[in-house]
Amino acid sequence: MSNAISVRGLVKSYGATKKAGQRIHAVRGIDLEVHTGEIFALLGPNGAGKTSTIEILEGYRSRDSGELRVLGEDPATTNLPLWRNRVGIVLQSTKDGADLSVQEILAHFAQYYSNPRDVDEVIESVGLQEKRHARGEHLSGGQRRRLDVALGIIGNPELLFLDEPTTGFDPEARRSFWELIRTLRSAGTTILMSTHYLDEAEALADRVAVMNHGVIVDCATPDRLGGRDRERVNIRWRESGSLHQELTDTPTEFLRALSARISGEIPELSVSRPSLEEIYLQMIGGQE
Ligand code: ATP
Repeated sequence: MSNAISVRGLVKSYGATKKAGQRIHAVRGIDLEVHTGEIFALLGPNGAGKTSTIEILEGYRSRDSGELRVLGEDPATTNLPLWRNRVGIVLQSTKDGADLSVQEILAHFAQYYSNPRDVDEVIESVGLQEKRHARGEHLSGGQRRRLDVALGIIGNPELLFLDEPTTGFDPEARRSFWELIRTLRSAGTTILMSTHYLDEAEALADRVAVMNHGVIVDCATPDRLGGRDRERVNIRWRESGSLHQELTDTPTEFLRALSARISGEIPELSVSRPSLEEIYLQMIGGQE
């Protein structure tokens, strides 16, 4: 399996400020691999070190130490213009081209790439058809975010960085954005995203890493993160007029006994494992 990104022992700290008082150790020696063609989500609370990590990988920030390969190059030393041609970036917030129309902004940025995507196709894929002629500064927060995503993919990148891409999206826009991301993956694009939405990570990511206090706490597929697949199963049902609950390691056996006891359908039966959000909160909480 080839890696679009590999990171060994990445360290980043920031100088002491009056407010913080002492040096901030934002990233404390992390290892990370993002496989070619996968969607990889970086999760973690505010200040965990996600943006620092992502911006170092994008070539926007320097690092203290560690070995990096992003599409086979070290972003700190590579020929940036050539490398940037292969990479798409959606930062947390941008205001590029506020006085141009959506179409003009995209056409302008498309010129910087050797193999750009079609402007109209990109506008449609992010659902901005009706705002094609609107100026950047007249877009709503969610529409501006879609334009940011459009700018990230206009160059037809091999690798796309998305830093909290759906902040400010309404639920329908998030769903159509997810479809867009899946379409990009089907076309072979590797995607590294950070998000605070656990449902987004679960819906999109092939693998997720949880970061906290500058370290990676766990890295796995969403259904295995933090031992989620080994957690006990929660069974709820109604019997003799009241609700019951059982946490069990052997749900099949328990359900067999339950259905032998209750004839017909078991009223209000539900069987669930902890959600990704519950597991995530346990992991973060356990670290505090
Ligand atoms: P969020 O989810 O809020 O975006 P994050 O996980 O992306 O957070 P970072 O932005 O990487 O976290 O910040 C990690 C730590 O480094 C924080 O304590 C932050 O205050 C500090 N930090 C980030 N950028 C700088 C900077 N330019 N100068 C000083 N400290 C910084």
